[in-house]
Amino acid sequence: MKIINPSSEEIIADIAEDNEQSIKKKFLELKVGQQDWRKIPLKDRVKILQRFAELLKANIESLALVLTSEVGKPVQQSRNEINGACTRILWLTENALTYLADETMIHQTGLTEKIVYEPLGVIANISAWNYPYLVGVNVFVPALLAGNAVMYKPSEYSSLTGLEIEKLLKQAGVPSSVFYVAIGARAVGELLLNTSFDGYFFTGSYKTGKYIYEKVAFKMVPCQCELGGKDPLYVADDVADVKAVAAGTADGAFYNNGQSCCAVERIYVHESIFDQYVEAFVKEVKTWKIGKPTEEGVYFGSLSRKEQIAFLQAQVDEAFQKGAKILMGGKAISGKGYYFEPTVLVNVDHSMSVMREESFGPVIGIMKVKNDKEAIALMKDTDYGLTASVYSCDQLRAENILQQINTGTGYWNCCDRVSAAVPWSGRNHSGFGATLSHAGLRAFSKPKAYHLRG
Ligand code: NAD
Repeated sequence: MKIINPSSEEIIADIAEDNEQSIKKKFLELKVGQQDWRKIPLKDRVKILQRFAELLKANIESLALVLTSEVGKPVQQSRNEINGACTRILWLTENALTYLADETMIHQTGLTEKIVYEPLGVIANISAWNYPYLVGVNVFVPALLAGNAVMYKPSEYSSLTGLEIEKLLKQAGVPSSVFYVAIGARAVGELLLNTSFDGYFFTGSYKTGKYIYEKVAFKMVPCQCELGGKDPLYVADDVADVKAVAAGTADGAFYNNGQSCCAVERIYVHESIFDQYVEAFVKEVKTWKIGKPTEEGVYFGSLSRKEQIAFLQAQVDEAFQKGAKILMGGKAISGKGYYFEPTVLVNVDHSMSVMREESFGPVIGIMKVKNDKEAIALMKDTDYGLTASVYSCDQLRAENILQQINTGTGYWNCCDRVSAAVPWSGRNHSGFGATLSHAGLRAFSKPKAYHLRG
């Protein structure tokens, strides 16, 4: 499989793809390996995964360059991602003993009732390219902690990072027969769906997630889907500092070129501050540098996938034809690499795809609203439900709005952030199930109830 650097369009590696035989062989090894791994005391598995985090830190510069070379994100954002992954591993490992240890629920004369969290077995982790460390860690770290073996299929756009992860996990002490990477694109993913895994954990698009969920349903094993979003953000009329809010929310929309599952994808602003907000928003984005992702100080690198350019262009063109105004950007940047101008649209409405379908790129629509009621109705008008955000001086007002929205995460005066301490989960087309938090630690186990008399 040829790996292309999206910022230069050069082939940077040619790696061996998995096939039916290799997947079968790896799976059979994982089946055996898992039986020994589950017997290793949890505290020792914790130590191994903490060592993995140390190795990530120790190798951060070279790992960041590999990541940047295959996905095109600025090298500082690659470093941020690896550091973020280490923070998550720390939380997961520090809390594993609390949430995965046996729990005695009732202990009285003659009767004990307890819960034992048994591993699922060998799980398949089919993953996305936009944050391969973060979305990978969300799954394979708690899965390994819980005593599972893992077949990790990185996206075909982040395969080199997948191989680095495999190398460092093994260096940290995870036995080779407990973690394997499956290299390849859709066809290799299909091979995993045709293998008898004990659980499927998918991160990616709604379209693929729906397909996978349907395809594995008959197996009667757990399946979790973390999918895309069309995350709304509302700026109320009482914010203290419109300029600061505009700058912070622009970052929420454009960080990683907008290629974040929880990127701000549509913005509603109260009419009394609309003009001020939009002016500050555009001014802020214009200060951010577009360039080679390896150059320090660059904020916008290239997009990761070539196809995304045509998709974004179609969204912008459709919006324009329906009456949207393009305040900046609006087209691909010519030359080598998959670059698209950061694009800000106003005069948008919900008849336009840009306000309804995940853009997953540096394109944002900003819409004027009269009041909270209109903002709530528009925020709710979506098939997705990953995150929603409200900026206001009034916490009660913000929480009242957020509780009316069917979303996995609600933000007050912040956006585009993930914490290991609370669940990460979607609703509707954004998926189901949770990673991170105690829920995410337990997602990779089967609770067994013991009723013990005597
Ligand atoms: P994608 O659905 O195209 O691919 C995801 C993975 O599925 C890849 O590894 C791919 O090779 C594999 N795949 C594709 N077809 C398959 C098939 N038929 N059978 C088995 N596997 C198959 O998604 P992507 O482009 O890699 O990622 C972008 C999407 O992921 C966006 O929608 C984004 O919002 C979402 N995402 C969600 C989260 C979250 O936590 N909710 C995090 C990151 C990304």
